Amino acid sequence: MSKSRTITEPAREIPIVTEADVVVCGGGPGGVPAAIAAARHGARVVLIERYGFMGGLATAGLVAPILAHKAHAADFAIVEGILREITERMHALGGAPRWEETLKVWGINFDAECLKIVLDEMCQEAGVELLLHSYIADVARDGDEIAAVLVENKSGRQAVGGKVFVDATGDADVAFRAGAPTTHGRAWDGRPESMGSFIHLAGFAHPDEARKKEIAARVQAEMAAGRLSFYNPGFLNRNDNQLDHTSANMTRFGGDSDNAADMTRAELSIRRDVWTLVRFLRTSVPGFENCYVQQLSPQVGPRESRQIVGPYALNGDDIHLGRKYPDAIARGSWWIDIHCPLGNTYPVHLCRKECPKGTDCPFFAAEYERMRSYEELYPPAGDWYDIPYRCLLSVGAPNLLSSGRCISATHEGMAGSRVMGTCVALGQAAGTAAALAVKQGIAPAAVDVTGLREMLRRDGQLV
Ligand SMILES: Cc1cc2nc3c(=O)[nH]c(=O)nc-3n(C[C@H](O)[C@H](O)[C@H](O)COP(=O)(O)OP(=O)(O)OC[C@H]3O[C@@H](n4cnc5c(N)ncnc54)[C@H](O)[C@@H]3O)c2cc1C
Repeated sequence: MSKSRTITEPAREIPIVTEADVVVCGGGPGGVPAAIAAARHGARVVLIERYGFMGGLATAGLVAPILAHKAHAADFAIVEGILREITERMHALGGAPRWEETLKVWGINFDAECLKIVLDEMCQEAGVELLLHSYIADVARDGDEIAAVLVENKSGRQAVGGKVFVDATGDADVAFRAGAPTTHGRAWDGRPESMGSFIHLAGFAHPDEARKKEIAARVQAEMAAGRLSFYNPGFLNRNDNQLDHTSANMTRFGGDSDNAADMTRAELSIRRDVWTLVRFLRTSVPGFENCYVQQLSPQVGPRESRQIVGPYALNGDDIHLGRKYPDAIARGSWWIDIHCPLGNTYPVHLCRKECPKGTDCPFFAAEYERMRSYEELYPPAGDWYDIPYRCLLSVGAPNLLSSGRCISATHEGMAGSRVMGTCVALGQAAGTAAALAVKQGIAPAAVDVTGLREMLRRDGQLV
């Protein structure tokens, strides 16, 4: 692609199609709860989503299960509120286990199609105005403040005005377009965690545990020989809500998810990897002759891209030490889970001191002293870490809040806080804070956090 030529975009008037109190940008695990919470607290809310459905990576990425709804290495909940409501509503439709059952296993398994309808219904019941199939392409500012986001859809370019904006795009698109400070990936070289797609495979009888191990060993041997390209051989993992197929998280690609060229390479590469696996299974593993790809996630999933810069950045020590804060608005329990930014570097799984690549990796060679060993990745057992309200603010745009995986956090901090249980808790907090700010006519930074925490507790959240 030519880099030297440029064109000038013609200046044009853009209609403001709607004006809301709170504009939630992105309908993923961080966005939907923000919209529901703000609307339930009386704000007029518009939620803008580029796809025709909500759920973000939980639906478009087929990511499951929802993690970090309970304390680390313990069976008590640390996130309830809207997350529990979503789970109970999915359970009523046969798309998730009972809430109490989810506390006995490591995550909340669910049916992605069931999640879509539950989110539709909850938004509609709360009175959220939905604008689907609309891509946020730019931001209009009025001084420091964001005045409107500009969306592209089949009607053309439209503006959606608002008083408070919640950036739940995952990639901090709103902050970035507004020129508010953002960071990208790890501090050393800007590289983010690798991305990945979930695969659903069907067309075979689910093997027992012994046979599962045997097949995984065969897949691993192919990986070691360089004939299959994955970071783990676990294609026989299963989302227990769907007994007719497996749901595997084994693909990986190193690149920037806020770069369309990298995303294009990722999609092509992962599709090729998955079909190499299917061909291997069909031809070499008895019982898998009719195996097929029931579904590959519609989009490759980014684990990390941009973070909004707020007055405080959640960091690795917060996670490892299980730190608590007086302005906590959400709890997390997932650990510092950094998927090697280089992608499928088998046998490397995570970025940590015990990396088998050793000094072959430039990061390892230069940053060894600052890397964490295995034991330093986890929060204390039976505990959690708090996420302070300051992580939801932007130092560059006073009427912007963040939610989900683009909150203010370091590379290590976001490696724990990015999982969906935590994103839902962050969303409920961001939406409640946005509604409070609108009601009181103040900036989100001026919201009384003690009052915010009381509201969250009244709404069933654990803070
Ligand atoms: C391979 C992989 C495995 C994972 N495994 C797990 C797991 O097992 N359990 C777990 O809990 N978490 C897991 N995660 C993490 C988790 O899925 C995400 O971090 C989480 O979904 C983030 O939620 P979010 O709402 O911040 O962002 P997203 O889920 O990315 O949602 C963002 C939403 O905003 C929309 N959007 C983005 N940009 C725009 C725009 N410009 N205009 C309009 N709409 C826009 C998107 O379409 C999307 O709906 C995994 C992630 C990956 C990639």
